[in-house]
Amino acid sequence: MGSGFFGLTVAERVASQLDKRVLVLDRRDHIGGNAYSAPEPETGIEVHVYGAHLFHTSNERVWNYVNQFTEFTNYQHRVFSIYQDKTYSLPINLATICQYFGKSFSPEEARALVAEQAGEIDTAEAANLEEKAISLIGRPLYEAFIRGYTKKQWQTDPTELPAAVIARLPVRYTFDNRYFNDTWEGLPVDGYTAWLSRMADHPNIEVRLNTDYFDVRDELPADVPTVFTGPIDKYFGYEAGELGWRTLDFETEVLPIGDFQGTSVMNYADEDVPFTRIHEFRHFHPERKYPEDKTVVVREYSRFAESGDEPYYPINTPEDRAKLERYRELATKEAAEKRVLFGGRLGTYKYLDMHMAIGSALSMFDNRIRPFFDQGESLDGRLDD
Ligand code: FAD
Ligand code: UDP
Repeated sequence: MGSGFFGLTVAERVASQLDKRVLVLDRRDHIGGNAYSAPEPETGIEVHVYGAHLFHTSNERVWNYVNQFTEFTNYQHRVFSIYQDKTYSLPINLATICQYFGKSFSPEEARALVAEQAGEIDTAEAANLEEKAISLIGRPLYEAFIRGYTKKQWQTDPTELPAAVIARLPVRYTFDNRYFNDTWEGLPVDGYTAWLSRMADHPNIEVRLNTDYFDVRDELPADVPTVFTGPIDKYFGYEAGELGWRTLDFETEVLPIGDFQGTSVMNYADEDVPFTRIHEFRHFHPERKYPEDKTVVVREYSRFAESGDEPYYPINTPEDRAKLERYRELATKEAAEKRVLFGGRLGTYKYLDMHMAIGSALSMFDNRIRPFFDQGESLDGRLDD
């Protein structure tokens, strides 16, 4: 149930390794879940329809697995940020510090400056996102690059957000401005949809699109195991309440120029600019021949999801965690009684990068699905960690 990376990985493994037939249902009119991409019709420029997707991983098994279905370009992700009409390098690094404070610093000098500015709050005592960020990077850099952006992204004041949201905020005292630290990184040479389609391309796999699971669940044979990758709260009829999500709105525009911003992603740090970032999709594939007089830009806006909106990022308040605990108990029972396993981003209410969704699906296959078919073991139904 669901043709995103989680569902397709399970389907591909079951079809190719166990030689079982697999039915993949998806309510959308295309496969691939949120990783789906399509050429913008006027320009042919590949657009990631549900937001820009950058593949990166340090997991060797996942890297070897995905390379069966696609080759990757040598794209390395870099992001810049505009604040008060000046452009800065991200993530915060020596270039950002030199640009922001308007002079050259050695790594040691920059370290000393940030340590002095961050000294006003002890990281161990930081009670919220704002305090945590100030304790790591100091107030001036926080106010420029984090406060406005975070407020826009979460529609919540940073003093009310958990410190954990920013736990990984990196500051580099070198000029290294690569966004990801992973061993492998790149974009699929012929696009995400070609990659996803090759995963589904097996005689044992049948994909049925435009099919909502909840419309057909009663017609499905009861004894066939189901891997459910849709929203877990919806599956249980919202018995423990609705889980909170943020959604995104994307505004796409074709411009009559060859290059709008000179890079793939530009963040907008000012609070009074309503969008968080602009993606210019041609820059994800500098190796391709795209029109030189047209470009596609997508502005991204963030807001709380209401019913009917696409759920994108779990909000994860303490209330959400309590509801999730209840859903996990129900899921364990459902596995034992009805052979339903829950996986993926929506099925576990976890933000998962693509490599994490694929890795977690491979583990579910090894630890539960294969033993079920090969050794007749029961599906124990613990949610994947
Ligand atoms: P999904 O891709 O969400 O697939 C779930 C599928 O289930 C969907 O196709 C949906 O239509 C279907 N479904 C749901 N309900 C029903 C129903 N009732 N009946 C039938 N079908 C149903 N990851 C990265 O590694 N790098 C990135 O740069 C990156 N950027 C991202 C940017 C955004 C804006 C978002 C939201 C995610 C990003 N991700 C990124 C994460 C990536 O999208 C996920 O890892 C991936 O989508 C997880 O796959 P999944 O199969 O768990 O879920
Ligand atoms: N963030 C920020 N300014 C930026 C980029 C990120 O304040 O220019 C903060 C923000 O709180 C955000 C978090 O860092 O929620 C994670 O950002 P990232 O870009 O990794 O998130 P994603 O790409 O998943 O939206």
